Amino acid sequence: MHRFGPGAVMNYRHAYHAGNFADVLKHVVLAQVIEHLKRKPAPFRVIDTHAGLGVYDLGGPEAGKTGEWQDGIGRIWQSDPPGRLADILEPYIGVISRLNAQGSLRLYPGSPLIAHALMRSNDVLIANELHPADRATLEETLGGAGNAKVLGLDAWVAVKSLLPPKERRGLILVDPPFEEPDELGRIIAGLANAGRRFATGVYMVWYPIKDLPPIMAFHARLAGLGLEKVVAVDLVVDRPSATDRLNGCGIVIVNPPFGLLPHLMDALPWLTARLARSADAHFRLQSLGAETLPTA
Ligand code: SAM
Repeated sequence: MHRFGPGAVMNYRHAYHAGNFADVLKHVVLAQVIEHLKRKPAPFRVIDTHAGLGVYDLGGPEAGKTGEWQDGIGRIWQSDPPGRLADILEPYIGVISRLNAQGSLRLYPGSPLIAHALMRSNDVLIANELHPADRATLEETLGGAGNAKVLGLDAWVAVKSLLPPKERRGLILVDPPFEEPDELGRIIAGLANAGRRFATGVYMVWYPIKDLPPIMAFHARLAGLGLEKVVAVDLVVDRPSATDRLNGCGIVIVNPPFGLLPHLMDALPWLTARLARSADAHFRLQSLGAETLPTA
């Protein structure tokens, strides 16, 4: 077990999981959120609280050991999505294609690389990663880009100290490894606190789905925060059960940019069909806020 900083347990290595179905959902949504933020000329800031390495070698020993990417990006890459869906997926697929310009899929981009590739030169990326070795790799990956800064804070400390951003527009991506007890409770508390500091920010928080009852309880607690605009996008690829297996994942989106949800509703049926591991696969997009949000 490794501890860096007060109390943080850090055994999780994303290299084993990069490009899996959970990354596909998270990164498709991330790319879409950024594309929608770009619809207004005013610059924005992306704060990636758990940034990871930035780029992953799908031919490396960690990815090879689990093979998870093969049931994730491996099923999406070069899969020729129909019509309008190809346009919706293009920002995400485009970043991967440019990273693998030689043609075959070898490298997979992490969230800070996807965000940075899609942002404009006057938008700002803050990529925060607590693990020192991962942070060093991340610095290299971002290559000293003028509008990107790498920090090494505890994620929730980063959220507290970096909000509100000076642009007063932005996305905060929270993607914890779920190694700490009651991570869902920390998310609830963190969102309540962040909402007070930067109420108009867009927040994306990723969570794992193993069994459904804890997720239903989490959704109920989120609804209890009394936020105006909040949705949960859940993608379940296999029958939820009490085992420790990752059967699905979800993303809470607070203040989804206008126009985002209809795009997600277009993409989710196809993504679910591609990523399904069994006939129990399904998706759900539900509002957990006071406002009913348009999905079509
Ligand atoms: N967001 C990345 C992506 O989509 O490519 C993947 C991030 S991975 C799920 C979680 C990362 O959080 C790991 O790289 C881990 O080292 C880092 N981490 C763990 N605890 C942290 C903490 N308390 N604060 C900041 N980073 C942390």
